[in-house]
Amino acid sequence: MALYENTLKQMEKAADLMDLDSELREILKEPMRVVSVSVPVRLDSGRLKVFKGYRAQHNNLAGPFKGGIRYHQQVDLSEVKALSAWMTMKCSVVGIPMGGGKGGIIVNPKELSETELEALSRGYFRAIAPVVGDQVDVPAPDVNTNGKIMSWMKDEYSKFVGKDTPGVITGKPVEDGGSEGRNTATAQGAIYVLEELAAEKGIVPSETTVIIQGYGNAGGYMAKMLHEKGYIIKGVSDSRGCLVASEGGFDPVRISEIKAEKGSVADARGEAGFENTALCQDSEFLTAECDILVLAALENQVTAENADKFKAKYILELANGPVTPEADVILAEKGITVVPDILTNAGGVTVSYFEWYQNVNDEKWTYDEVQEKLVKIMKDAYKDVAGNAAEYSCDMRTAAFITAMKRLEGLYKN
Ligand code: NAD
Repeated sequence: MALYENTLKQMEKAADLMDLDSELREILKEPMRVVSVSVPVRLDSGRLKVFKGYRAQHNNLAGPFKGGIRYHQQVDLSEVKALSAWMTMKCSVVGIPMGGGKGGIIVNPKELSETELEALSRGYFRAIAPVVGDQVDVPAPDVNTNGKIMSWMKDEYSKFVGKDTPGVITGKPVEDGGSEGRNTATAQGAIYVLEELAAEKGIVPSETTVIIQGYGNAGGYMAKMLHEKGYIIKGVSDSRGCLVASEGGFDPVRISEIKAEKGSVADARGEAGFENTALCQDSEFLTAECDILVLAALENQVTAENADKFKAKYILELANGPVTPEADVILAEKGITVVPDILTNAGGVTVSYFEWYQNVNDEKWTYDEVQEKLVKIMKDAYKDVAGNAAEYSCDMRTAAFITAMKRLEGLYKN
């Protein structure tokens, strides 16, 4: 099913329960603007290839559109629209003055050389330059994009407008106008949310096993932070393979080194410190016994087809949209608590907002200042969502949407 339909179902469920203003409900049903671009790139072979890309700007009631740019072969318009709508909700859950946007290019970046990747990144940003800007739409990294790509894009935009404009994009390296703490922000925000959940549910880290799907920016840092907090890391995976401990856990810091050296987390199998691990199929990995399952890869991982097989007690959505609306119902019946993406992974956009704020106000915050602000925002957001879950007797996802839409309704009516 097209991903945007999932987003609409989630919004409708919350809108019904809270009786959302009917005009705002209509407005939120479609992005305000969707731009489709074609980006010609001269490949190293001399051949010209034209890539297709999108930028969806869902809603800017709260402030400039904000959201990442994804490079992936499965990017499509429905996905970009869905991700942009989730960004509107996410910014509103944490109460930052930003709206929702998202971009994407249909490409497998692993097949491109560095020169080709730079040409594509600059070309895409030139193509969307007329509709972005530090007061209009502020992109950021997402799957397969990073600080270096953000710097190329900032540079391209600065040429387009004829002046240095660091606030047009976030997730830049610290030495190029990025914020302290941005790289780790998504995982760190999720850790703050988990601390609140753990306090409420009596979760003890040293007795709690965790499996993490996706070992990229979000999932990799999450694994390390959980390990530091004493959680037992029982399994990790990436697009090339997965690894599960038959008993106990393992050290994810060593995993990162092995992945960097050999290509996949699965290459740790057979290395010292990983004698207790086995490789597995993706489907077995997701449904293995554990207390907490962290989904940090892509959308639609838990669906009506596989939801009844999941054994985790809690699912933390570090990725966007990994659980479908149909799967949500099945998981709830099984008593599995899903901590939703628009709350769990909102630390990323929150520190992106901090970066934008520092850029446009010519400020520079320390790492500790960033953490002090982030922890408060994430913990307050958790409490708001938990409060709405209790008030409306609903699951946490619906409560997160209610939290977001109440704020948007306040802005719309005033
Ligand atoms: P990334 O490209 O750094 O990492 C993605 C990881 O997922 C990679 O390790 C990849 O190998 C793995 N992966 C892909 N398909 C997989 C599969 N089928 N099974 C197992 N692993 C698979 O991307 P990221 O920035 O870490 O983003 C991951 C998710 O988190 C996305 O849904 C993204 O939208 C979301 N997110 C990221 C941020 C951020 O700040 N990076 C913020 C909010 C949300």
